[in-house]
This record gives sequence, structure tokens and C-alpha cells, in this order.
Amino acid sequence: MDLQSEKLSDWKRILIGNAPTEFLIEVLIRSIFIYAFLLVIVRILGKRMSGQLTITEMAVMLTLGAIISPPMQSPDRGILIGMMLLLFVLGFQRGFSLLTLKNRKIEQLALGNVTMLVKEGELQLSAMLYVNISREQLFAVLRTVEIYQLGKVKRVYQETNGDFSIYRQPDPKPGLSILPDGDSNLLQLQKAYAGEQQVCSRCGHLQSSIAEIVCSNCGDDHWEKAISEQENN
Ligand SMILES: [Zn+2]
Repeated sequence: MDLQSEKLSDWKRILIGNAPTEFLIEVLIRSIFIYAFLLVIVRILGKRMSGQLTITEMAVMLTLGAIISPPMQSPDRGILIGMMLLLFVLGFQRGFSLLTLKNRKIEQLALGNVTMLVKEGELQLSAMLYVNISREQLFAVLRTVEIYQLGKVKRVYQETNGDFSIYRQPDPKPGLSILPDGDSNLLQLQKAYAGEQQVCSRCGHLQSSIAEIVCSNCGDDHWEKAISEQENN
């Protein structure tokens, strides 16, 4: 390419490149073909491709995106190659799914494990660090299912596709408030039900003895009043 001849005021080149104007029509036809074929491939890949994705499905999605781009817009690429690549990816994903079904080790390696984030009202901070989720993100998830203090939670798991499974405590205990700090009205309301017990401000560990100064779960030494919400409040 002769850089001397590339001028900034050359709008035709900037907008549609060096290809002839008719190529726009070709791009449209190429796109229709590739898009239709892509729909077929994604349909065969399965319903899950349109919902929450696992890591392997995400990889396939990105690969699909990369494959369809050149045959849609490059005049020197035929669309058949793109279609063939899509078929290969379909084959890979199908084969890999089969492999993970047959071999539990490969499944764990590729998809990761289910991670326990809350156990008996206490945050599992090292697990949260491992899956890269902050306290506020986790609290937001719990608040969407109307849980406002950790004592109501028996378990929270993060599934391999990123979803959260929440198991409520059948017999809720007092716990750490997970209301947003700024909402003083709501916090006041919650404090009305406060008992005498203390919880670790960092992980929600319920203080079992008065003598406990450092949290036995996370090693922190900040305590606050435990909240014991009524079930129907
Ligand atoms: Zn703690």
C-alpha cells in the first residue's frame, strides 16, 4: 500500500475501504448466508448457548464470532471456508461435551468446581477470593431473594456456570446485616430487632463467647451487633 497516497480527506476510502462500491451488496449477501448458517449451528449446539454460559461454551461463542467475521467482509475469502470452520467448532464442542460426560476429571478441569461461598451464615472469604467475587456482589445476590442478614443463610454455592444456589437456614439465627450502608431508614428498622449477640463485621461469624476478641473464622477483630430479623418483616 502506498502510504503517500492515503489522504485523511479521502472519505470514500475511510467509509468503505478500497473495495468497489458493489462489494457492499456482496457483503450483504455474504452476511445473510453466514448468519443463516450460524443460526443453524447455534441451534444444534443446544439451548444452553442462549442462557448462562459455562467457560467452554463461552470459548465456543468467542470462536464463532472470530470465524464469521472474515468471510462476511473480506473479498478474497470464500464463505465456504467460514462454514466449514463453523462445522468444525460444532464437532469440537459436541466431542468435548461427550468427553466431559464420560470423564468426571476432565469435566472438573474444564468447567471448574462448585464453590461454597457461605457456610452456616459465615462468609468463606478465601473461596470468595478464589472465584473473584466481592462481599457487595454476594450481598446483592442475597438481597434479590429477600435475605437481609447472613443468619438466614445455610449455604450459598456458586455453580460452574456462575449462577448462585442459595439454601436458607430452616431455623434462622442472628447474623451480619447485609443492607447497603447508605440506607439509614432501613438500617434503623433492622436494628429494632437486634439481639445482644455480636457478629464479625468481615465474615459474619457469630461470637460464641464474650472472651472472643479475634474472629476464629477470619482473624478480624471488628464486631457489630447481630441482627435477628423476624420472618415476616
Ligand atoms: Zn470473621
